[in-house]
Amino acid sequence: MKPCAMCEERGQPWTGAAPQCAFPDGGDFTADNWNCATMNALRYAAEAHRVQHDDESLGSVPFDNELQHEPSAGFVVLCWYKSRGCTSVAFVTGDDSPPRALTYGLANAVALKYAGGAA
Ligand SMILES: [Zn+2]
Repeated sequence: MKPCAMCEERGQPWTGAAPQCAFPDGGDFTADNWNCATMNALRYAAEAHRVQHDDESLGSVPFDNELQHEPSAGFVVLCWYKSRGCTSVAFVTGDDSPPRALTYGLANAVALKYAGGAA
């Protein structure tokens, strides 16, 4: 299984359990993940739009048409529990259409935009 570019670049700078990429082989988001570097970047970016209930967090990362992805503008929506490294839910809303899967292409573009401080 090939991890995402951010996982590949980061590697595993800790001892213990291996990270599990949320986008194996460039596929859509899978909930079976742990400390995927792209998801960690998105969760960090979601802090500005986060609500917490008990130990569950719901966050979103807005994006617009400068990224040239479908939908053209909207939110990456994320849910996670405590700070344990797994993102349990991730999907995309936008363009007044039903929720759709978070593709690796969009996740990477949004993560890079925020990681680069261009938000
Ligand atoms: Zn990854």
